[in-house]
Amino acid sequence: MADLTKKYDVLVVGGGNAALCAAIAARRAGASVLVLEAATKFYRGGNTRHTRNMRCAHDAATKELTGPYTEEEFFDDLLRVTGGNTDEPLARHMIRESKAMLGWIAEQGVRFQPSLGGTLSLGRTNSFFLGGGRAMLNALYRTAEALGVAVEYEAEVVDLDIADGMFLSATARRGNGERLTVRARALVAACGGFEANIEWMKQYWGAPADNFLIRGTPHNRGTVLKLLLDKGVGEIGDPTQCHAVAIDARAPKYDGGIITRLDCVVFGIVVNKHAQRFYDEGEDVWPKRYAIWGRLVAGQPDQIAYIIFDASSLTMFMPSLFPPIEAKSIGELAGALGLDPAALEETVTKFNAAVQPGTFDHTILDDCRTEGLTPPKTHWARRIEKPPFYAYPVRPGITFTYLGTRVNKEARMLMKDGRPSANMFAAGEIMAGNVLGRGYAAGIGMTIGSVFGRIAGREAAANARN
Ligand SMILES: Cc1cc2nc3c(=O)[nH]c(=O)nc-3n(C[C@H](O)[C@H](O)[C@H](O)COP(=O)(O)OP(=O)(O)OC[C@H]3O[C@@H](n4cnc5c(N)ncnc54)[C@H](O)[C@@H]3O)c2cc1C
Repeated sequence: MADLTKKYDVLVVGGGNAALCAAIAARRAGASVLVLEAATKFYRGGNTRHTRNMRCAHDAATKELTGPYTEEEFFDDLLRVTGGNTDEPLARHMIRESKAMLGWIAEQGVRFQPSLGGTLSLGRTNSFFLGGGRAMLNALYRTAEALGVAVEYEAEVVDLDIADGMFLSATARRGNGERLTVRARALVAACGGFEANIEWMKQYWGAPADNFLIRGTPHNRGTVLKLLLDKGVGEIGDPTQCHAVAIDARAPKYDGGIITRLDCVVFGIVVNKHAQRFYDEGEDVWPKRYAIWGRLVAGQPDQIAYIIFDASSLTMFMPSLFPPIEAKSIGELAGALGLDPAALEETVTKFNAAVQPGTFDHTILDDCRTEGLTPPKTHWARRIEKPPFYAYPVRPGITFTYLGTRVNKEARMLMKDGRPSANMFAAGEIMAGNVLGRGYAAGIGMTIGSVFGRIAGREAAANARN
């Protein structure tokens, strides 16, 4: 158990990638460091536990990456996915710093592996953690503890004492309900977004938020984010913006992780509870479109939709946790889903009639499309006609929110009046909105956490020791 009575140089709130990168960097810079993690030891590490890869710029192929990914290309990708909604100097700074990250992370004991074939076509741009996010975290914790970082689990920060932009102390609530005041010379807030706080989400989304499933930790409730914003820290980002994908509606409310995500939208059609299609399922290649389907389903009645496909597609995508619902006919499938059989039969018949001849190739933007159908399916349109027929029910799966604390290049929080805070820093999801105004490029969540975590730790240590 950590000594919570002593005054540390740096207090890190959170226990995921951003927090551990900050803690290690601060400790390596000579600071005494305390990490307060709300979760138990087994569940430590927030959303980072579920990750697989990280996007970093690099000038040449590496042992695991198939080719170069320049700073310019990374920035272009970011511009495209955010529609320009990013802080350009900060984003460029992050991308530049990302070049050193793969080496730095490896120095902390994390190991990489070549990307899996046939997943999201990320073999050139994204480095995959050997053993996934949990193995990555275990390595970071091992290194942090060996360096002498103190870690306290089941210690949720529930209050902050901040005076005129200066952090003084934090109140932590332990598993047994006991409250403790913890003092430190500098603060790094690395405790996620507010995606697991449904009541807060409802302020912007209304009742539909009750039907959202949270893909990651139940601990990212935004408690510290709210305290910081209430106590004068500048806010960044649109509160409705988040990373949201379509996940299996049978997934648990929290922590379903990667295995509940469904990547088969491009192989079939997607209908709502009235058995009506509502968006072009073949608009673009899956890596560029998978993150729009959470919001699309959120816009449908009762926030539920169904991916419908047939036997010819069953083995073409990565299987997920739950098996698809299977039936011998479209009418029977509708019955199993609780949809109006006549309505689903009509939707499928109309779709099949609109499919044009073409050469199917799901690895490119092929010429298989519909004609005269609204909405169209512009690629990979094939008739749904080969039994058995299949369906996955889907709901919006919220990954993380973008509303956050404003920061500068030192990862130092900026107050509402623009002044830099005296001793408060932020990293990871809690400040992701500085870089991600909207949209997402796979693997950038971990880039934001690692790069700003390392900077925050280094700067917080320097701040505390001066
Ligand atoms: C299923 C899934 C798959 C993903 N895959 C990828 C991927 O492959 N690549 C990628 O780049 N991104 C991925 N992401 C996004 C990625 O997980 C996040 O961007 C990243 O992990 C954020 O790191 P973080 O340290 O900021 O937050 P987290 O890892 O979520 O850590 C936040 C920590 O803060 C703690 N905490 C919260 N509130 C408090 C409090 N009040 N007091 C104390 N502690 C608190 C939590 O317990 C947690 O330990 C994925 C997310 C999910 C859900």
